Amino acid sequence: MDDCIFCRIVSGQIPSSKVYETDQVLAFDDIHPMAPVHVIVIPKTHIPTLMDLTAERMNDCDALMRAVQEVAKIKKIDQKGFRTVINCKEEGGQVVLHLHLHVLGGERLRDELN
Ligand code: 5GP
Ligand code: ZN
Repeated sequence: MDDCIFCRIVSGQIPSSKVYETDQVLAFDDIHPMAPVHVIVIPKTHIPTLMDLTAERMNDCDALMRAVQEVAKIKKIDQKGFRTVINCKEEGGQVVLHLHLHVLGGERLRDELN
């Protein structure tokens, strides 16, 4: 997907600050952090939204959750805690149409929807 920002990050066409990587997933620092720690975790495969995560692709879901745990340990927010957010489609506030999880932490997060 040449027109997808996150596919371009996966292919190295757009640089990113890599936090964690496996064959299936990539995690990198958000370019506009909303908290002291703000990491984006994506499947390397182009899956547009959470609603496109079909049964055959559920192993990507496993890989994403494992990656969140690893990112939390790498960023040292695993003990105190953090928040994960998935924005889905327009009304959910999804801007980049490549499935991604936000991992936010490093301070007491406000009790509002992200
Ligand atoms: P969404 O609103 O789609 O859930 O979140 C997209 C996120 O991707 C935003 O937090 C935005 O700052 C981040 N983002 C957009 N473009 C880039 C980029 O080129 N590099 C990085 N590292 N993050 C990006
Ligand atoms: Zn993509």
